[in-house]
Amino acid sequence: MEMAQYGRTPQGGVNRQALSTEDAMARRVLVTWAELLGLTVGTDVVGNLFMRLQGTNPEAAPVVTGSHIDSQPTGGRFDGVYGVLAGLEAIQAIREAGIVPKRSLELAVWMNEEGSRFAPGMMGSSVFSGSRTLDSVLSVIDAQGISVGQALEEIRNEFPDIPLWPLERRLHAYIEAHIEQGPVLEREGITIGVVTGIQGKRTFRVSVSGEEAHAGTAARSERRDALLAAVELIQAIKALCEDDEDLVKFTVGRLDVKPNAPSVVPAEAVFSIDLRHPDSSKLQSLGDQLLDLCAYEYERCAVSIQELSAAPSLEFPDSIRSLIRRTAEDQSISCMDILSKAGHDARYLHYVCDTGMIFIPCKDGISHNEAESATERDLADGARVLVGVLLGLST
Ligand SMILES: [Zn+2]
Repeated sequence: MEMAQYGRTPQGGVNRQALSTEDAMARRVLVTWAELLGLTVGTDVVGNLFMRLQGTNPEAAPVVTGSHIDSQPTGGRFDGVYGVLAGLEAIQAIREAGIVPKRSLELAVWMNEEGSRFAPGMMGSSVFSGSRTLDSVLSVIDAQGISVGQALEEIRNEFPDIPLWPLERRLHAYIEAHIEQGPVLEREGITIGVVTGIQGKRTFRVSVSGEEAHAGTAARSERRDALLAAVELIQAIKALCEDDEDLVKFTVGRLDVKPNAPSVVPAEAVFSIDLRHPDSSKLQSLGDQLLDLCAYEYERCAVSIQELSAAPSLEFPDSIRSLIRRTAEDQSISCMDILSKAGHDARYLHYVCDTGMIFIPCKDGISHNEAESATERDLADGARVLVGVLLGLST
């Protein structure tokens, strides 16, 4: 609740954009708490923040936990920040129990997970894991024209005493705790979701070009109405994506029409496609069929499509999943397997070390919303399981 003060919104949510003043204030508090616990604090060139409890074998690759503290503009108090604070709580509990793990335990705060101020998201974790280059993110600008590079420099100046750690480091394992952001655990009455994997996603930008014409005089036969063409194409893709199991997720979340004037036949319609499916091969073939649909003309309008991103579905290793399950069962905390339908920093960490995620329920499955909520009991149980998993991995 104290973290939720930084970027607090009137409706009780959080607006804490990556590398903003609010982000800096939240980092300041975290660093203070970490230093009170005797943790070593470091950062890296892409603005990730690390807090380390030294193990008895400092040469061994560390076990890392964490998440993000940036939010959507009308975000909630738990998305991301829960994983960070559960990690801090877990490390504090281990320290206060007098346990010194063999491997160091690190708490990570990944820079810009949400991709709200600077797109795309998961910047810190993707650069850390080598999936994106540092240069490719530094030049990204926000709506005010401020670049990631400039914003990083500003936040570095806020914390001149925090040393820069190398970007490329070996990790032993990564565990991320997070609210589910969906209704399954609450509906099933289960406390812990053992995340099996993250469903894949392909995103596209489609441009339909027609021709401007007078809404009163242009005959139907000579119109090239880009919006009607876009609607026809979207209907065709919708039909392609209809499956009995309701596994395909197809969203057109943005549509820009030009000139966007009531009495002018639209000359251009540009829309986004967000396509997701838990099965990578299915995602691949659906995306390819979607590309095929864009090879035709609609309403005599030409269509061009550009693929913006493609992330396959991934599965977390069995070893981590069974460790999470055993730890929950040992503490008599209920658990079940669950697929993550949203992306997380764990997606990128999974490319460099054994990775897993622990989900806890959130009220009515609501997230990316100021009303986001979770019970103290569930939040604490998630942290309890995290303690056991971190110890299991670090000894
Ligand atoms: Zn999140």
